[in-house]
Order: sequence, then C-alpha cells, then structure tokens
Amino acid sequence: MFELRDKIAIVTGGTRGIGFSIAEHFAKAGMIVIIVGREAQRVETAIANLSAVSAIVHGYCCDVGDVGEISKIFGLIEKKFEKIDVLVNCAGIMEKSEMDLITEEIWDSTVNTNLKGTFFMSQYCLPLLKKSSAPRIINISSNAGRMGGYENGLAYTASKGGIISLTYGMARRLGEYGITVNCIAPGTIESDMSRSYNTETLNRLLQRFPLKRFGQVDDISSAACYFASDFSSFTTGAVLDINGGLFTG
Ligand code: NDP
Repeated sequence: MFELRDKIAIVTGGTRGIGFSIAEHFAKAGMIVIIVGREAQRVETAIANLSAVSAIVHGYCCDVGDVGEISKIFGLIEKKFEKIDVLVNCAGIMEKSEMDLITEEIWDSTVNTNLKGTFFMSQYCLPLLKKSSAPRIINISSNAGRMGGYENGLAYTASKGGIISLTYGMARRLGEYGITVNCIAPGTIESDMSRSYNTETLNRLLQRFPLKRFGQVDDISSAACYFASDFSSFTTGAVLDINGGLFTG
C-alpha cells in the first residue's frame, strides 16, 4: 500500500524488538535499510536476519548517547549514501527505579540514550535529510511521555516526554526544508524491554488495557511505514498513540 521502494532509512535500535520490526517492514517494502545498535554481534545477527528479506541492509555500531560515536558513523554514512530519506529514532533503554532510588548515573544513561540520542542523531542526519525529496524523522516516545507512565521510572518518563517536545520543536523548525517530524507513543509492546518486568507487574499493567492485550512490534512498524510514506506528507508534529486504549488523551 505504501510506496517506499528505494527510499533509504536509518533505524536506531534496529537490532531487536520494535526497531528490528520497523527495519524488517522497511526492507520488505523495498527500502535500503541502515540499522544502528550498540553491539557488533547483535548488529551482524540483525543484518543476517534482515538479509532474508532484502539484499540491501547495512549496519553500524554506535552508542547513540555518545555524540562522538554518532559523529563517527555519520562520517561513514556520508561517504556511502548521498541522502537519507527516513530517520527512525527508536533506540532506547528503560529504567524502573522508585523515585528515591534514581541515581545520577541512572538518570544520565537513560536521558542520554533516549533524549540526547534522538536529538543528536537528528542533528547529524540533517544534511543528508535535506537532500531527500520527501524527508522524514520518526521518533519513538512512549505512553510514559504522554501521561507519566505506571511502572517505569521517572528518568524514563522525562526522557520520553522530552522526545515529544523535541518532535513539536523540530517539526516547527524543519518544515521549511520539507522535513516532517512525527512521533509514535507506544503502550506496552511485547519485546525484551517489556519482558524485563516481572509477572506480577505485567499482570497489573495488562488490567489497564481496554483491549486486554499488550501490543506487538508489528503494531508499531505499520505506523512507521505510514509516517515514512507519502500518505503522511501533510502530517508533522503529530504524536500517534498506539497503546490499546491505555491512555486516551
Ligand atoms: P528493546 O530493549 O527490545 O530494544 C532496544 C533497542 O535499542 C535495541 O536494538 C538496542 O540495541 C538499542 N539501543 C539501546 N541503547 C542504545 C544505545 N545507547 N545506542 C544504540 N542503540 C541502543 O526495546 P523495544 O524494542 O521494546 O523498544 C524500542 C523503543 O520503543 C525504545 O525507545 C522504547 O523506549 C520504546 N518503547 C517500548 C515499549 C515497550 O513496551 N516495549 C513501550 C513504549 C516505548 P543493542 O542492544 O543491540 O545495542
């Protein structure tokens, strides 16, 4: 349905979970996909798995919370690709600490990965996005960023709220280049991240979902395809809740 063939996309957090699913959907749609993750082995495994659906998958190792590492991979990406059409900022970590137990280290690692990573990946990608005829930034926030969250920690909530504000601000500033900036705010999605909750917490969370189930990674990828496509060309600065009714605004 969405014409995405030959578009070039970077997906951070593309080694696992939601990011991998987005990369897989993009690859199936004929896009050239560049995945970014922290660990070489996981990047290689993801490339091998994605190669089953597309011959054109690239991968880079980079901690998105480290601007020096972002700068390095963009040095390499710029040598290989003339433009980038779609940047998906999906890399993220969650912390679950009670407020009184959040240390400076927990705060910094969470906010650096989730929020600083989203900003600096976008900043470094900008020159390449400006060369696209239909450039897109898609940020992955969370229901925690929309309404505070239930079981996650507050460093995570703050980082995800920041991603939403950043989406609004970037959409305003980048519109003049034709770049749309949109955000997806998932509720609990089955992945390594949500599986890190214990059974009791997961049961408690499940009761909050009117649809009585957690989301699947594909629920998010289909929305990413929409935001990447021309069907969303007049949509910018939007936050799409995909949360089974957990939070309804
Ligand atoms: P996973 O834990 O399954 O995967 C996280 C991904 O992020 C991995 O690919 C990991 O790569 C990558 N990553 C983590 N830290 C860094 C870093 N510093 N630099 C580069 N890559 C990094 O999480 P999900 O797939 O569940 O989550 C994806 C996004 O969706 C996150 O932003 C999360 O906050 C958000 N989200 C998830 C929800 C859920 O219930 N699952 C709900 C709401 C939002 P690697 O380990 O290979 O380095």
